[in-house]
Amino acid sequence: MELYKLTVHEAHELLVKKQISSEELVKAILKRIEEIDEKVKAYITVDEEKALEASRNIDKTGNFTSSLSGIPVAIKDNICTKDLKTTCSSKMLENFIPPYDATGVARLKQDDAIVVGKTNLDEFAMGSSTENSAFFTTKNPWDLERVPGGSSGGSAASVAADECIFALGSDTGGSIRQPASCCGVVGLKPTYGRVSRYGLAEMASSLDQVGIITKDVTDSAIILKAIAGLDELDSTTAHLPVPDYTKSLVPDVKGIKIGIVKEYMDYEIDDEVREAIANAAKTLEELGANIVEISIPHIEYAIWAYHVISTAEISSNMARYDGIRYGKRAKRYEDLIDLYRQSRTEGFGPEVKRRIMLGNYFLSADNEDKYYIKAQKVRTLIKRDFDTAFEECDLIISPTAPTVAFKIGEEVDDPIKMYMNDAWTVPVNLAGLPGMSIPCGFSENLPIGLQIIGKAFNEAEMIKAAFAFEQATDFWKKRPAI
Ligand code: GLN
Repeated sequence: MELYKLTVHEAHELLVKKQISSEELVKAILKRIEEIDEKVKAYITVDEEKALEASRNIDKTGNFTSSLSGIPVAIKDNICTKDLKTTCSSKMLENFIPPYDATGVARLKQDDAIVVGKTNLDEFAMGSSTENSAFFTTKNPWDLERVPGGSSGGSAASVAADECIFALGSDTGGSIRQPASCCGVVGLKPTYGRVSRYGLAEMASSLDQVGIITKDVTDSAIILKAIAGLDELDSTTAHLPVPDYTKSLVPDVKGIKIGIVKEYMDYEIDDEVREAIANAAKTLEELGANIVEISIPHIEYAIWAYHVISTAEISSNMARYDGIRYGKRAKRYEDLIDLYRQSRTEGFGPEVKRRIMLGNYFLSADNEDKYYIKAQKVRTLIKRDFDTAFEECDLIISPTAPTVAFKIGEEVDDPIKMYMNDAWTVPVNLAGLPGMSIPCGFSENLPIGLQIIGKAFNEAEMIKAAFAFEQATDFWKKRPAI
């Protein structure tokens, strides 16, 4: 049996029955990384020594009651890991070793999960392909000439290529769901406030969420339960009880109303993707769901409002990286101002600089009302559109992205085209809702993702529909031949 292929729940069962040890599992993953990561390039850092040591310690206790005990996880490299380099794929933080764990990581460790390494991303999570990483581009395990999506491309590729059992990512405008779609795995972005952002390097704080990339829906329910819930270190986490999401793992969508957003389907979408979504709707209908057409009238403005709001927040959040308070300090400079200038010039890549400049422009005295305030109003309208739509349905489905994974280099010189990939995912972040991407088809051996959007704090219902769909189909069983 190839241990690296296991899901969390499969590995857990074998660990409990003592049919495998955690050390064997971690070794299998490390060997897999050694064999194929040269090609996939999912990892920035692999923590071999500490992962092995942790696995031996867990084996010694023999206690596998927690569902994550002894199970290897990969962490996106913008999520802080104590004593383990966290670069955000930026030269600015090339040598940053956090003295603390992000809450998501701390909770996984509390459950005895084992961090095997840190995965590649677009610099500070700005991008949709990992091509904006300051270090290298991750390859899509289904076709090494294609991008894995982004910004959590390293996490999604590592799950798809069986280089970890599951991974954490972050999603500001689609960065978990879109790479999950491109890599044929399950990506879950929780409701804003469901999972702590403490220890996540901020991109746009009102949109960022930590979330999960897994091989199947069952695993996403298990991990969400482990990391969700109030955190006194993040005042935006909700004072709400966390349900046992594994109770939603029943294949039942009878009577559930599922909305298809009219405007979403009017956008430019590849024929194969359109067909896969139509088939997915049919499958859900056959399982007993009612499909209804709904409208989110302001959705066409979402991508623009997103880029005004996110760049405004980015320009503020990036201000701390000045070579004095945080980040790389330039070696040569003339005075204090020049030190800031040189450090930021050397430390940031072109996409980060573009967004800082845009954000400052939108926030300047002359423009604030014209752009920033207006975008906030649009955000409210979109949120209200979703509220109204959810009076008519329980869940919404759509494509996660308009195409399958594109070729490396194909869109990198056309930022607007790249931004348009997110038209289906950003409205969900603007409205603070939970969203998932699950495999729903293939186009020429490249995976297609179905997005399921839930009501705020009702991840349970979303997981239930995702599980029902998964059980009725076998797209998720197909793995890349790498
Ligand atoms: N691709 C989107 C962007 O570049 C979303 C990024 C993200 O979710 N972190 O802004």
